[in-house]
Amino acid sequence: MTAAAGGSAPLRLCYAAPDGALRVAHDPWRALGRSGHRLVEDGPWVPLPREATVARLPGRPALGRRGAEVEALPLGQGTAVAAVLPVGYLRLLLPAHGPAAAAGPPLPLYGYAALAERDGELVTAALRTDPFAWWRPARYRSGDLAKLVARAQAQLPGNRVVGQLRTCALEHRCYTAQNTFRRRYEAALPASAACNADCLGCISLQSDTGAPTPQPRIPRAPSARELIDVASYHLDGGGQIVSFGQGCEGEPLLRTAVLEPVVRAVRRGFPQATIHVNTNGSRPDDLARLARAGLNSARISVFSFTPALFTAYYRPRGYTIEDVVASARRLREHGCQVAINLLTFPGVTDAPQEADRLVATCAAVGVDQVQLRTLNCDPLWLLDRLPPLAPGPGLAALVGRLRRELPQVQLGNFTRPVEAPPAPTAEAAGRGRAALPPV
Ligand code: SF4
Repeated sequence: MTAAAGGSAPLRLCYAAPDGALRVAHDPWRALGRSGHRLVEDGPWVPLPREATVARLPGRPALGRRGAEVEALPLGQGTAVAAVLPVGYLRLLLPAHGPAAAAGPPLPLYGYAALAERDGELVTAALRTDPFAWWRPARYRSGDLAKLVARAQAQLPGNRVVGQLRTCALEHRCYTAQNTFRRRYEAALPASAACNADCLGCISLQSDTGAPTPQPRIPRAPSARELIDVASYHLDGGGQIVSFGQGCEGEPLLRTAVLEPVVRAVRRGFPQATIHVNTNGSRPDDLARLARAGLNSARISVFSFTPALFTAYYRPRGYTIEDVVASARRLREHGCQVAINLLTFPGVTDAPQEADRLVATCAAVGVDQVQLRTLNCDPLWLLDRLPPLAPGPGLAALVGRLRRELPQVQLGNFTRPVEAPPAPTAEAAGRGRAALPPV
């Protein structure tokens, strides 16, 4: 166990009592967090953000320190709890808990973070990594969303993209889906029902765990016409980014033949738009095709640049980490903005071999941004499926290293619009509903 970092007041252990109430354990219990297989105290621990939620971890005993010993709080007294952080925060430590007392499915796919009490307030081990105003939760509280969804449904009747986003916006409270109806910032264009990977932490489809998925996958792939109509609706209304590759779909590159004419049409109708794809980066040639058609931004998901971890996590079909790196290179060659969507996990991402490869690959490829995402997954379930790793210095230290060694790379959580060239005249731009060219 590592020494407690900073702050004189003790970190006290929190747990959920059998009646569901959040409680603080009496002295001498002290709180811990987890980094991979290690239990640690070092943070930094910060006040729990206002928009965070507290989750019970049913059947999992809370682990804490009593004097020099690590012990499990008796399950009869209560179970472990965790913080689930709002967007824009990076989780630094996992909750310290033991395995479930009884066999059952893994925990639902959320980003569980360590939670404790210090000096009368709840604290968590986290770092604010991106205050980008577009994504502040306060911007998503207005009560007119259902009306805006109805307006889109009236204008685009029967559109399957609208149908999927309606569920995402109203039931799953997805911000990107809401943006589509609010016609601002970044809109979602879910395009693919299939995938060529089977990620352990896929939030749209769990093929083998039985864990509930927070964003069920679009049941049928939409047509090019439906995608163009939704993109035009968003961009005509003032939106700036349209994005393929959402949490509620599979891999968009499996639909390149359909997406290529979509991108071409949207680019022709909206020369200033950021046309973006979130992808697993499995098909470099397909990304080059989309870039030639007018795609100008991409975010590639990366859990690890190390082949053994990459394969263990993605369970890829027909591609390797070399293809993913080649995808980033091809996109840069075509002048696209390239971000790495780094799926962080304390004790894995900061392991020395992982950090070294991350830094070297980002430098070699010339990525523009590293998005620091908290991987949503049952922590112990995931650790059981990964090869062992040497301990690292922690995610906060990794962020410091990225800042020092990659000063040209932007760190954050969110995709930015690509700076557009000077706007042509309205006539030249032909701004408006994009026409679908013959395929
Ligand atoms: S690449 Fe994306 S859609 Fe495919 S399995 Fe992984 S998380 Fe799910």
